[in-house]
Amino acid sequence: MQSSLGTSRHTVQAQSPRAAALRQPGRRRGLAVLAIAAPARDGVPSAQPQSQRQQSGDSLTPAAVAAAASRGRIVLESAEELKSTWEHRAWTAGACALLAATLGLGLSGVDSVESTAGAGVAVLAAYFMADVGTAFYHWGVDNYGDASTPVFGGQIAAFQGHHQRPWTITEREFCNNMHKLFRPASFFAAGLAGMAAAGAPAWWDVWSSSFLFLCCMSQQFHAWSHMKKSELPAAIVALQDAGLLISRKDHGAHHKAPFNCKYSIVSGWCNPLLDGDCPENSVWMRLEKWIHEKYGVEPRGWYEPSEQWKEQERTGAAA
Ligand SMILES: [Zn+2]
Ligand SMILES: [Zn+2]
Repeated sequence: MQSSLGTSRHTVQAQSPRAAALRQPGRRRGLAVLAIAAPARDGVPSAQPQSQRQQSGDSLTPAAVAAAASRGRIVLESAEELKSTWEHRAWTAGACALLAATLGLGLSGVDSVESTAGAGVAVLAAYFMADVGTAFYHWGVDNYGDASTPVFGGQIAAFQGHHQRPWTITEREFCNNMHKLFRPASFFAAGLAGMAAAGAPAWWDVWSSSFLFLCCMSQQFHAWSHMKKSELPAAIVALQDAGLLISRKDHGAHHKAPFNCKYSIVSGWCNPLLDGDCPENSVWMRLEKWIHEKYGVEPRGWYEPSEQWKEQERTGAAA
């Protein structure tokens, strides 16, 4: 499965947490939660050091990609694969059109002060809930599973690749970056459009279309948070500065120690609520403790990034 965040002209080997634990002694963080007894391990799932990576380059055929994915390898794309195709554009435009139609039908029912206020509340609620929802999703794929995890393996590999090479997301063309979210979302968007046409309440049409659109757009908001102000349109910088979009500073903190806070990638509004006194007293830590106590599974966030998945040095303009 392809990654949508990280990229390079190579594949890297994903390993199971237990395999990595057996292979290397861990460098566990000195967090309060670490009073929980568990075997030490290094950051997982991990990737081979750069010198050990399997070079793929132009010889990487679709069959080779499929075979690598089936073996649990994280397949990272070549520079050519950062470009948008007509298929990417079709999925992105199709989903956006369906969501716009649903929103339009919802707003067409706004004809009074009360319904105007209701639509405003629906949009605000969608904005906040998308921030919370994408933060939880980001936390999940950053901390659990690996490239071979069913359904989410590609996203997990992508987020790991992103932590290794965070600049790559900024090099993707818009529809290349967005289609992997808008493509699955288009089926839900079609359902929402159908409900709207069948006479669903206006508040539902406004809320659901806004929520789904913002969840998908979090991928682009995330990309913008990795770009310099000089590279962004003035309107985007203004929205970031106003706190309406996740800022470079806020998201930059997620890529620094202790690495297990600041998961929001829409506006950042939910970060203070979910992080608390990060990392010891965050919502994330409480959830991680509960999961560990109940299922014995440790999150990657309890460990310092190993050489195998920590951020690499950027050596060239393009990946
Ligand atoms: Zn992350
Ligand atoms: Zn990032």
